[in-house]
Amino acid sequence: MLRCVRLFAAVFLVAVSTASFAQARSPQRPAATPTAAAGPIQLVVDASDAPRKIFHSRETVPARAGEMTLVYPKWIPGEHGPTGPIDDVAGLKFTAGGQTLVWHRDPVDMYAFHVEVPPGAATLEVAFDYLSPADASGFSSGASASAKMTVVSWNQVLLYPANTASDEVTFQASLKLPAGWKFGTALPIASQNGESVQFQPANLTTLVDSPVIAGQYYKAVQLTPGETPSHEIDMAADSAAALEMTPETLSHYKQLIAETGALYGSRHYRDYHFLLSLSDYVAHFGLEHHESSDDRVGERTLVDSTERRLEASLLPHEMTHSWNGKYRRPAGLSTPNYQEPMKGELLWVYEGLTEYLGDVLAARSGLWTAEEYRDTIAHDAAYLGEKGRPGRTWRPLGDTTNAAQLLYESPQSWASWRRSVDFYDEGELLWLDADVTIRRLSGGKKSLDDFVKLFHGPGSMPANAAKGPGGVTVGPPELKPYSFDDVVNAMNQVVPNDWRKFFNDRVNSLSAQSPQGGIENGGWRLVYDDTPGPLAQAREDARHGLDASFSIGLILSDTGSVIDSVLGSLAYQAGVGPGMKIVAVNGRKFTTGGFNDALGSKENTPLELLVENAEYYRTVRIDYHDGKRYPHLVRDAGKPDLIGEIIKQHAPSVAPPEPKAEIVH
Ligand SMILES: [Zn+2]
Repeated sequence: MLRCVRLFAAVFLVAVSTASFAQARSPQRPAATPTAAAGPIQLVVDASDAPRKIFHSRETVPARAGEMTLVYPKWIPGEHGPTGPIDDVAGLKFTAGGQTLVWHRDPVDMYAFHVEVPPGAATLEVAFDYLSPADASGFSSGASASAKMTVVSWNQVLLYPANTASDEVTFQASLKLPAGWKFGTALPIASQNGESVQFQPANLTTLVDSPVIAGQYYKAVQLTPGETPSHEIDMAADSAAALEMTPETLSHYKQLIAETGALYGSRHYRDYHFLLSLSDYVAHFGLEHHESSDDRVGERTLVDSTERRLEASLLPHEMTHSWNGKYRRPAGLSTPNYQEPMKGELLWVYEGLTEYLGDVLAARSGLWTAEEYRDTIAHDAAYLGEKGRPGRTWRPLGDTTNAAQLLYESPQSWASWRRSVDFYDEGELLWLDADVTIRRLSGGKKSLDDFVKLFHGPGSMPANAAKGPGGVTVGPPELKPYSFDDVVNAMNQVVPNDWRKFFNDRVNSLSAQSPQGGIENGGWRLVYDDTPGPLAQAREDARHGLDASFSIGLILSDTGSVIDSVLGSLAYQAGVGPGMKIVAVNGRKFTTGGFNDALGSKENTPLELLVENAEYYRTVRIDYHDGKRYPHLVRDAGKPDLIGEIIKQHAPSVAPPEPKAEIVH
């Protein structure tokens, strides 16, 4: 998901062109029983009311007399859960031959609607409104429209015949936008008349995989001008100023495309579009697609250096999913349609490897400095380790993948004990460990890059596949599902090892210590001091919270509300828990600055907190004198710097460095 839908790792976060792709199906995809009538479904979406957050949808579905069941997409690809926003469907009406039909929702499956098509009718007309929420939580079913821009996710504005494989049903879609708005999408366009766009016929898989971004303030930036496949960033923002990416940032995104070519040696799309939302009024996340990604960040992300650094790995992560998640996908997530439940057991590959490669690409392309990359790894290792999440002692990494559909929406309170979607961060450490292990076992001759080229790249494609710019192998968007055995076998082809045990040990571990083999064998050590690293500082600056999880075990909002209390920590032992509020620190009203000063004090007196719990006040004393603690990586001179080797620029520079001209936060 969403990360991806991608969740940012901040602990106090409160917060495709032609008919040929329409026919590009995977023969390995499990088949559903097709019962749909022949012929494309006509879909007309009126998004001209997007600023008011209501979308009007009309469909003409080929039909024949008798009972017919239509379904609303439930299991959303990349979100790894049953997140289709069925509750936001309103005004539903079925008609045939001018006659309004009686419909019944299935009493068990809330996403299915039954109607009786009358004799003589050849089509069924479906009309409904999608009530786009204003609440910025959630992923694609969260806020998706501001006054000035929107993202249209097709799965939210259509029904399709039950028991149909999404590869097997064709849609002819059209979209009406607010006057003056421009748009970007990977979905091939047939014609355009003002704000009305007619798209080329596409199967349902491609349609749902190809959202549309649109807005009054819109700009498309080419990253590989004149090349095929092309790469562009399609941006819509809440202001014209927010679109003004600096030349330096643009050069890093161009380098990112070059680095993906060097890493994967392949591309599996006709063209690639980053659909970048810059708004404080839409949900913030990233959602991968095969030929595009739905990337949503704050309005000033491109022009504010703090925000830019915090979001630097989003586009690399989501683009990595074009290879790892879309082209290669665990069999349990390769479902025939959107009603079939997904099985997330290999999300430590789908999301974990993507988290690893996305962050590596952010560093290789210069979106992050080496120090910012190491700051991320240090944070992950500390956060998942003995000072962060004791939940590892009861819930193995593997269970976080099976329970992903629960954990994405689970609360922040007690997250240290419950755990969350840790297959991102722990998966990243696991794959760093795998990369370093390949490098050590092969004497530096091989790396995880070789696995990627074999599993996701030319090694997985026909020998006669076409070559694109830079000698990169280019193929159509297709889906090749895989199993755990396939991963183990490919790793063994790179360098022989007991990879089955290597992965099983880590996926099933109940150790209190996070997996740090990749850090230590990569030439670095995890240490703590009282100075935040660059990303830790940026998180505190931007999110206005306070992370004392590595010292007394508290994560606080900027008003002193306890977001989490780490089980077993000093704060926990003193009786502080989530939902309480720190009102005063050492006798003075709570502020984050005052709390930090008190925490950093080396005086030999306990920290005294006045705590409110549902209108009752209590003073607690925490006997802590070690100051603020932030995780860092420091060099271990006794070992070669493999992490440095991993994150150095790999592709030739595509653009000369530009003078620094960013606006400072
Ligand atoms: Zn992801």
